[in-house]
Formats: sequence, C-alpha cells, structure tokens
Amino acid sequence: MKLSNQIVIATSNRGKFEEFEVLFSKYPELSLLNAADLVTNIDKLGLVEKHDIYMDNAIEKARFVSKACHYPVLADDSGLEVDLLGGRPGVRSARFAPPTPGKTQDQANIDYLLSQLKSDSPTTARFVCNLALLVEGIVIQSAGVLEGELSYTPRGNNGFGYDPIFVPKGSTKTLAEMSDAEKNSISHRARAVHELMEQVRNLSIVLARP
Ligand code: IMP
Repeated sequence: MKLSNQIVIATSNRGKFEEFEVLFSKYPELSLLNAADLVTNIDKLGLVEKHDIYMDNAIEKARFVSKACHYPVLADDSGLEVDLLGGRPGVRSARFAPPTPGKTQDQANIDYLLSQLKSDSPTTARFVCNLALLVEGIVIQSAGVLEGELSYTPRGNNGFGYDPIFVPKGSTKTLAEMSDAEKNSISHRARAVHELMEQVRNLSIVLARP
C-alpha cells in the first residue's frame, strides 16, 4: 500500500503542531502542513469548538479547515477529566477558568481547577484525545486516553496546560516533570495518532497529493 504526501493539521497553535510533527516522525511517508500557513481565518478555528463531545469538535475543526484547502485534514480535541469533579473540565478544558489578569490561561485553569476541589482527597483523572482525519468527505476517527491522578501541588516546567498537576498511572512524576520524549511515549495524543495510523494502514487508504 502506498501512503504518501501531505496532511494539514487543523490548529492555530504552533506548539501543538510541533508535537504532532514529533508524533508523526514515526510515519515518514507523510509530511505535515500547518493550517496556520494555509488558512487566512485560522484564528476563528476556536469558535467552531462548541459541542459537548470531543469528536464532534474535532470533526467541526477538520471541516472548517478543509473548506479552505484541498488536502486531507487532521483535527483533534482533547481535555482533562477529573473524577472528583464529575469528569470536568472535559471538553471545556481549554477555557475552564475565566481570563484572569496577570495569569496565563494555563495557570488560571490549574488554579481554578484546584480551587474547585473541596478537599485534598486523592482523585483519579484522565487525559482524552479524539482525532478526526477528513479525507475526501470521509472521516476516520481515533481516540487515546492517559489514566492517572491529580497532584494537588503543581510540579515541573515542561509541557503545557494541566501537565504540572497530572501524574500518569505507574509514574511518580507529573507530565511537566517528564521530557518530551517520555510524555510522547505515553500521551493520549500519541495513542490516538498511532491508532489512527493503524486504521489508515488497515483500510489501505491512500493519502494522495490533491
Ligand atoms: P484543545 O484540544 O485544543 O481544545 O485543548 C484542550 C485543552 O486540554 C488544552 O488547552 C489543555 O488545557 C488541555 N490539554 C489537552 N492535552 C493536554 C496535555 O497533553 N497536557 C496538558 N493539558 C492538556
């Protein structure tokens, strides 16, 4: 089977694009293009994330970008689910806290999440990533999950988002204390990418140059 050429990553976030580049380096038959370089209104991408279901948001993002370019498009939606919060923030993870002067959104989200927990009882949590690859009107879906528990004390400086308060199952380090390579070997996004590529291979899909 021939797997070739380029797919567009539907994100306006350079950091996320670079993470996908590392995850897809295992698949050298594909090269990635950044929607930020191809789509003029990419800053509107966040507006289509209005659903309560990760996959619906991922599909919506893929459709938004595919209207502006004729490549296969990969979009994701992800979030952190905390069991003591009944699964919140979930699909609302990116903007869980209201914008807070003097704090980055990531810092505000962490502080707000910890403030929502009434005690410091241990709580399990998980990162979830859903991926949608839109090719010629067909959507191929995949998902990846990383189970763990919360650390009530943020630790580490790597990564982004809620990494400083998430300890993967079987680890003593938070994700923010891990190297990029360590995180990429276990992350929800890595799992979703590898499941997606299994499907692309098993379905004998050819991602051909438009
Ligand atoms: P979105 O998928 O771009 O909507 O982002 C979801 C939000 O979930 C991010 O802004 C982060 O707050 C959080 N998130 C998703 N994946 C990760 C991760 O790997 N580490 C830390 N936070 C994450």
